[in-house]
Amino acid sequence: MSDDHVSTPLAARVRRFEERLAAAGLVDDAELDAALDRFLGGASPVNGARIVARAWTDAAFRDRLLADANAALPELDLSMRSGLQEQRLKVIANTAARHNVIVCTLCSCYPIGLLGPSPSWYKSEAYRARVVREPRAVLAEFGLELPAEVEITVWDASAESRYMVLPVRPAGTDGLSETELAGLVTREGLIGTAAV
Ligand code: FE
Repeated sequence: MSDDHVSTPLAARVRRFEERLAAAGLVDDAELDAALDRFLGGASPVNGARIVARAWTDAAFRDRLLADANAALPELDLSMRSGLQEQRLKVIANTAARHNVIVCTLCSCYPIGLLGPSPSWYKSEAYRARVVREPRAVLAEFGLELPAEVEITVWDASAESRYMVLPVRPAGTDGLSETELAGLVTREGLIGTAAV
């Protein structure tokens, strides 16, 4: 719940709802914790890195991924499903001419299942407000200095729609295996605040 436009009053309402379910004998805290562990236990940037490495080595998969990420994810035994809900995922590819970066301007929506829990700066008011207004300056502060001719697109997530960046495959990696390529991909690369 912590990543879905949750405000403090809403969190308190959810807690009261949990307590009523428990009082009615429908579910207990241990079951709720176990459900959360099942969801978060597999949540890691390793998943996003696997997707990227497959897209770098398999052009047909890359096409399917960019066309409909939700339909392509099961090829890697991944999905955007948490409980009964499936979040929409769009993967956007960086090119030599265009760089992409993700944000949730409203709160902190983020593809947790593919990237793991979000970094604290992603949830900060400063990042959320500034990356939209002055993305080039914000990326430079992350150490990513983009040439002036590279266009920057900022993708604003919502409760229903999440985004992930497909970085450009680094030069000189022709001989690497898919697993080795996955090892090059960082969480920041998947957010768009780093090149890879
Ligand atoms: Fe959000």
